[in-house]
Amino acid sequence: MLIGDDPASQVYVRSKTKKFNQLNLHTESFVLSAETSESALLELISSLNQNENFHGILVQLPLPKHIDSQKVLEAIDPKKDVDGFHPENVGRLAIGEPRFVPCTPKGIMRILSHYDIDLKGKHVVVVGRSNIVGRPISILTSLKQVGANGTTTVCHSGTSNIGEFTRLAEVVIVALGVPHFLTDKMIKKDAVVIDVGINRIDAKNEKGYALVGDADWDSIQSKVSAATPVPGGVGPMTIAMLVENTVEAAECLVNS
Ligand code: NAP
Repeated sequence: MLIGDDPASQVYVRSKTKKFNQLNLHTESFVLSAETSESALLELISSLNQNENFHGILVQLPLPKHIDSQKVLEAIDPKKDVDGFHPENVGRLAIGEPRFVPCTPKGIMRILSHYDIDLKGKHVVVVGRSNIVGRPISILTSLKQVGANGTTTVCHSGTSNIGEFTRLAEVVIVALGVPHFLTDKMIKKDAVVIDVGINRIDAKNEKGYALVGDADWDSIQSKVSAATPVPGGVGPMTIAMLVENTVEAAECLVNS
């Protein structure tokens, strides 16, 4: 569901729809105007909760200001909550019994395991504590599970000297939405950097803008042992994990 005309949200919904279509998975986009009332949205969610043709429901965030996002996320059937933002699924993740893991953090863990980067015994610093990225990745990296089991520190806008923490980390995950925030001075040699940021900055090209991450790629490149680029890197993994969560939701609902 896409509510309003936020250009970045339109791009995300288009990319997700394209991937589902490529994989021959039935998908439908409900595009609603920015003036849509909260009650109309809740009604639509309720009807999709009942509709057996859909195994997953995703509401693209952010929502227009007059709509209570938390209320909307809580209205989604937790068994169709493929974004993993319903409090029931957040709680399950926090106790290490996840049902749907939010797509971006799940994608980060998949990248780390694919490249054999085991977090056990490592210091992980996460910059950002949002419910969609920072908070869940801080939980996942510190769970007592194979591939995880790291020692995680969460930094945010209330942290006085972020560099003091990031310089201690073997793995730095930046998810704050500040272009080029993380520089070579803020990391130690051979650190792994996961760059979640997707920021539009002005550029002299056809579009008039360029997408950059929260890490300063030119500066960190020669110091890291591995890093994810922007664009690329975490973004496409987020969509891949959405597909995976949706297939898992379908399997669960069909077998229940
Ligand atoms: P968000 O909800 O705005 O949260 C940003 C977090 O960073 C907050 O915890 C905030 O602190 C903290 N923060 C902001 N400025 C800071 C600063 N100067 N120093 C320290 N901490 C700071 O953002 P989000 O939704 O997590 O997204 C973060 C970035 O990731 C954005 O660029 C977004 O576009 C991108 N993103 C990418 C994907 C993907 O698929 N690759 C998915 C989701 C988001 P407070 O808590 O104190 O406010």
